[in-house]
Amino acid sequence: MGVDAWFGDRALREAMTGLPLALATIRRSGQVDYVNQRFLTTIGREALTPELIADLVERSIPSHVSMRPAAHEGAHVDVLVLPFADHVLLITGEPRREIAELRARVEELERLSTTDRLTGVWNRLQMDRMVDAEMSRAERHHQPVSLILLDVDHFKRINDSKGHALGDQVLRELGERLAGGLRILDSLFRWGGEEFVVLAPETTFGGAEVLAERLRARVAEAPFADVGQVTISLGVAEHLPGESREDWFERVDRMMYRAKAGGRNRVAVDRHGAAELWGEDRKRAVIELTWQDSYRSGHPEIDAEHRRLFDLANRVMGEAFVPEPDHGRLVVAVSALVDHVQQHFEHEERILEAHGFPGLTGHSKAHRHLLRRAREIEESIRAKPVGTGALVEFLAEELVMRHLLTADRTFFELLKADLANP
Ligand code: GH3
Ligand code: MG
Ligand code: MG
Repeated sequence: MGVDAWFGDRALREAMTGLPLALATIRRSGQVDYVNQRFLTTIGREALTPELIADLVERSIPSHVSMRPAAHEGAHVDVLVLPFADHVLLITGEPRREIAELRARVEELERLSTTDRLTGVWNRLQMDRMVDAEMSRAERHHQPVSLILLDVDHFKRINDSKGHALGDQVLRELGERLAGGLRILDSLFRWGGEEFVVLAPETTFGGAEVLAERLRARVAEAPFADVGQVTISLGVAEHLPGESREDWFERVDRMMYRAKAGGRNRVAVDRHGAAELWGEDRKRAVIELTWQDSYRSGHPEIDAEHRRLFDLANRVMGEAFVPEPDHGRLVVAVSALVDHVQQHFEHEERILEAHGFPGLTGHSKAHRHLLRRAREIEESIRAKPVGTGALVEFLAEELVMRHLLTADRTFFELLKADLANP
C-alpha cells in the first residue's frame, strides 16, 4: 500500500481543491489531514469525533456514513467514504456528477502512481503488490505462478552510439512489444533501467519458458526504428511453496545472468517446480475450509455453530469458484453466511457473559468490526455480478478462519475448564 510520498499527498490535494463538494481526508493513522472550506461550513470539523475516525480508517472498500453536522441540529448528511492508498476520503454524497469526477481523478492518481512514466507499463510499486498477492493466491489454491526477468543486451552501446533519447525510445517500443506478446492473465512491469519483469499466474516454469521464448523472438526478429536489431536475455523461475519474494527473485536473477553468460539473446530456466512438492494435493484447485478437531471449543452449541460457519463458507466458495458463477445464487449463499455469523456472534456473547469471560468487551468489539466488514462485502458482492473472487476469499478467510483461529481461541480454555468442573 502507499503512493510515492512525494506524489500522493500533493497531487491528491490538487485533485480535491476547486470541486464544489465538502471534502476531508484522514490518514490511516487517524490524523485528519485536510478539511476543505465547504466541509467546515456544512458539517464542521467537530463532527469528526475520535470514535467516528476510528471507524472510518478501518474501511477498505467504498461505503457510506451518516454524519450529524456539528453546528446544525437535526438533518444528517450522507457522506461517501472512499479508501485511497493510505488515506480515507470523505465526500458529501449529493452531486453525483462531481463525485463521479472525483472518483475518476482518484483512479487517475492511482494509475499514475502505479505506472512507469517512460514506458506506460506497471512500475515497481505495483509489481510488489501484485507479486505478493499472486504468491499467496498460488499457495492457497495450489496453483503455479512464474516470473520472467529480462534485460536488454548491450544497451550501453545503444545509448553511447545513438544517444540517450533514442535509448528511451527503444525502451518504449520494447514495452509495447512485450505487452503485445502476453496472455490475458500476465502482467508486465518495469523493474528499473532496461530490465522488465513478467508475472505469469497459473503458469509452470515450462509454460513460462514457452512465453519467454515467444517474447525473445518478438524482440529479436524485427528491427527497432532508427536502431536496428535489439535483443534481450531472459531468466525464468517458478515460485516454490513457502519461498520468500526475495529468494524467488534471486533465483530468476541468477537465470537471467546465466542467459547473458550463455551468449545473450536467449532464455535460461530454473527447472524447479511446485507440482513435485504438492503431489496429489495439486488436484484440489478450489479452496475449501476443512474442520479440524483442534477447532473445538468444548462448548457443544458453539462448536455446532462454528461447523455450520464452515459449511456456509464452503457453500459460498462453491458458488463463486466455478467456471460460470450464478450471481443470484452467490448472493443468497453470502447472505446466509453473514446472517448466520450475526446470530452466532450474539449467541456466543451471551454464553461468554454467562461464563464470566473477562475479555468480553474486546471480543464483542472484534465481533462488531468483523460483522460490519462482512456486511460491506455482502453489499459489494450484491452490487457486482462479476469479479467477486477476492471479496469471497476475504469473506471466507477473514470472517471464519480469523474469528476462529485468533479471537475465539482466547476463551476456549475458559470454556473447557468450566465444562470440566461445572
Ligand atoms: P548487458 O548485455 O550485459 O546487459 O549489457 P548492458 O550494456 O545492457 O549493461 P547493463 O545492463 O549493465 O547496462 C544498462 C544500461 O542501461 C546502463 C544505463 O546507462 C542504461 N539505462 C538504464 N536506464 C535507462 C533509461 O531509462 N534510459 C536510457 N536511455 N538508458 C538507460
Ligand atoms: Mg541491466
Ligand atoms: Mg543490459
